[in-house]
Amino acid sequence: MNKAFNRGGLIQKMHNTSVWDVIVIGGGATGLGIALDSITRGYKTLLLERADFAKGTSSRSTKLVHGGVRYLAQGNINLVKEALYERGLMLNNASHLVSRQSFIIPTYKWWDHFIYTIGLKIYDVLSGKLSFGKSISIRKTETIERLQTLRTRKLKGGVVYYDGLFDDSRLAINMAQTCIEKGAVVLNHFRVLALLKDTDSCITGVRAVDEETGKTYKFDANAVINATGVFTDDILKMDDPAAQNKIRPSQGIHLVLDKSFLPGKHAIMVPKTDDGRVLFLVPWHNRAVLGTTDTLLDSHSLEPKAREEEIDFIIKTANRYLTKSVTKGDVLSVFAGLRPLAAPKDKSEKTKEISRSHKIIVSKSGLVTITGGKWTTYRKMAEDTINKVIELGKLPKALCKTKGLHIHGANGTLDKSDHLYIYGSDYKEIQKLIKKHPDLGERLHPGLEFLKAEVLWAVRYEMARTIEDVLARRVRVLFLDAKAAIEIAPKVARILANELNKDDLWEKQQISDFIKVARNYLIQASSHNAWSS
Ligand SMILES: Cc1cc2nc3c(=O)[nH]c(=O)nc-3n(C[C@H](O)[C@H](O)[C@H](O)COP(=O)(O)OP(=O)(O)OC[C@H]3O[C@@H](n4cnc5c(N)ncnc54)[C@H](O)[C@@H]3O)c2cc1C
Repeated sequence: MNKAFNRGGLIQKMHNTSVWDVIVIGGGATGLGIALDSITRGYKTLLLERADFAKGTSSRSTKLVHGGVRYLAQGNINLVKEALYERGLMLNNASHLVSRQSFIIPTYKWWDHFIYTIGLKIYDVLSGKLSFGKSISIRKTETIERLQTLRTRKLKGGVVYYDGLFDDSRLAINMAQTCIEKGAVVLNHFRVLALLKDTDSCITGVRAVDEETGKTYKFDANAVINATGVFTDDILKMDDPAAQNKIRPSQGIHLVLDKSFLPGKHAIMVPKTDDGRVLFLVPWHNRAVLGTTDTLLDSHSLEPKAREEEIDFIIKTANRYLTKSVTKGDVLSVFAGLRPLAAPKDKSEKTKEISRSHKIIVSKSGLVTITGGKWTTYRKMAEDTINKVIELGKLPKALCKTKGLHIHGANGTLDKSDHLYIYGSDYKEIQKLIKKHPDLGERLHPGLEFLKAEVLWAVRYEMARTIEDVLARRVRVLFLDAKAAIEIAPKVARILANELNKDDLWEKQQISDFIKVARNYLIQASSHNAWSS
């Protein structure tokens, strides 16, 4: 059990270091990956996250650990090869959260069938020794057998291939735990307000505020790394108010439906939607996740909202493929995420054509910024970033150690029919907790599998500080069933208040704050917001 993962204790520990080797701004996949790379090379590492770990894009992905079949179609072989390699490492290193998943591309033209079969053979070859399974071409009858809700009119057959599926924000939490276990200080609800500089205008640290207490701190560091995703430009402007925007946010939304829409174990990949993108229908935590879209935006926010037309687009596309008709009333949750894409050089450049590989920028002040990439390649992005910091002479040389590094909880042997499998090696500890206090074995909601014990666990051992921290990123109810999440908010608030020693007023405020956020995940509310914005 990880008793070190305690915010108060970490703030105490923070005072023991006068100069950090590395300060990471941002606690998404990229920042946490960098903190992990840094601490395991032996550097004194501090990570500051303004909200919660994975509050941004890193909890809002399509849940794929993948090479990117669509990048293959674009001929981006190196990007695919790199991601397939990282996919294999992720399965080894976080085996409790990453699993092999079969995808079927239903084909309606023989030519398409042929092309996808060949393309996916190349995908297999590129994955080399870290293959997730051989792709195969299947007949119409077998396609229908595997995908019971697939429309069969004009269906020719299917192409099966394998990729990975994961729980994104739980991996982020487990990465934060691993960082702490290795000696780093990583803090959520701690926002960077400004960059500190010396008389030569070189970065020497950051000024940050503890959002819980309002207390501000100054931290000195040899290297400061900006890993803030769609917030990259905000930090770059702290460095140089005249800096050009490097990021253009592109929104992608997902709808979550009941499992009956995708009852089997296979996922569906629609290779070409009306706007030339791919659409995934993926079985996830006993529900079906459908997405995504690609909508260029002019602004970013921590809580982006799905637009009416994006919701309609996914429903319309899904209904072309599924026999069970999807309506807005079927949507259990809708969530939106923002891709931190490199800003197009000219207005004609479409987002899907912009490179999705990562980029490291070194500012004149010495600030190191990492942008782009994807969840699957977080480890390589981190390795490249720390290598760059070493190359700049800000850190003594040390080799990367994360290729075979197990993430907290890694244990792939648990039975996945028990939803608690995602806790991996912590599973036993949660069971012990329930044995000691049987009331913790109660479900939070009659229609949900999640238990009271999971909330307690999230607060005690996973640094959850708010209802949203619990229900969005640790116990993923908000993403799976937003209405149920709102219904259980008071129960969760009670457990939090008890554990954190808070009063009734705090509890009430928590419930009201959570409901405000959770409404964005309800389709009526998000449609309303879209209309009124
Ligand atoms: C719709 C969609 C689907 C995707 N699907 C997949 C997929 O299936 N598989 C895959 O591999 N990749 C996928 N991706 C890509 C992947 O999710 C992202 O590349 C990744 O999550 C980006 O992580 P990040 O850490 O860079 O950004 P974020 O997760 O956004 O993290 C940045 C963090 O910085 C924090 N921050 C900002 N300002 C400050 C400050 N001043 N002080 C402190 N902290 C600050 C924010 O609060 C935030 O938590 C998808 C992306 C999108 C948008």
